[in-house]
Amino acid sequence: MQRRTFIKTGGLLAAAQITGMSTLSALESLGNSLAPSQRMPVMFIGHGSPMNAIEDNEFSRSWKAVGAKLPRPQAILCISAHWLTPTTRVSGASKPKTIHDFGGFPKALFDAQYPAPAAPEMAELSKKLITESHVQSDDTWGLDHGTWSVLLPMYPKADIPTFQLSLVYNQSPSYHYAIGQQLSKLRDKGVLIIGSGNIVHNLGQIDWYNTGKIFDWAAEFDSKFTEWMDKGDHASVLNYQKLLGNTATMAHPTYDHLLPLFYILGLQQKGEHITYFNDKISMGSLSMRSLIIQA
Ligand code: ZN
Repeated sequence: MQRRTFIKTGGLLAAAQITGMSTLSALESLGNSLAPSQRMPVMFIGHGSPMNAIEDNEFSRSWKAVGAKLPRPQAILCISAHWLTPTTRVSGASKPKTIHDFGGFPKALFDAQYPAPAAPEMAELSKKLITESHVQSDDTWGLDHGTWSVLLPMYPKADIPTFQLSLVYNQSPSYHYAIGQQLSKLRDKGVLIIGSGNIVHNLGQIDWYNTGKIFDWAAEFDSKFTEWMDKGDHASVLNYQKLLGNTATMAHPTYDHLLPLFYILGLQQKGEHITYFNDKISMGSLSMRSLIIQA
């Protein structure tokens, strides 16, 4: 039901934003520290509305700026909130299709294509690195909108080999975190790993009239997670349901959009720091907070 609500009115989402800190100034602080290096940064991106893919707005402009700043990846692995499977899968289609997994949006969004090439070697390596579960190749999946809606502004040429890893919804936060840890070697192979979801995601409570209100539970959840991430307190992040109780339930009636974050935090190495961007709550109940982790 929430999905249907989103589908009907989602196009409004990108038009309604609540002012906050300047994202571009946060990105400026990335400076030249992202010179080509041995190890790629990792990212979590709050993707919000699919319309961000084709609209020129503050979120898509930040993605574009990040794409221009990062060292060019050899390949991109995206862990999207929109690919849920019973067991862990790595996408392996030779020509990944652009999946328009939504409805009720303008034709221009359905016309959008992201014909990035496949990344068969990195997909194979990913399967080998993951020890937590039986991992399968999946040649039916392509790139869902959790992936291409952010990559279209970031890398508009769609010329970087891209693949996805699925989410097993019912597994614990620690399970997802552990898989993230196991994928660490990909960073040394020039793979940019992106988790794509939202740190707060309650479509049923979205303020479609954009009155500027932010739900207390949305602000609290976003701020607690930020506090824990800043402290490197991953134990609290993984225990969020117990620690935040009803606040967690309100922030994530279903937690598919939070799961990709656990992979990204699992990839954080000692001494690496976090830079935030798009750090604001949109339409009352959607955190667009995004982050880059790097040395
Ligand atoms: Zn989504």
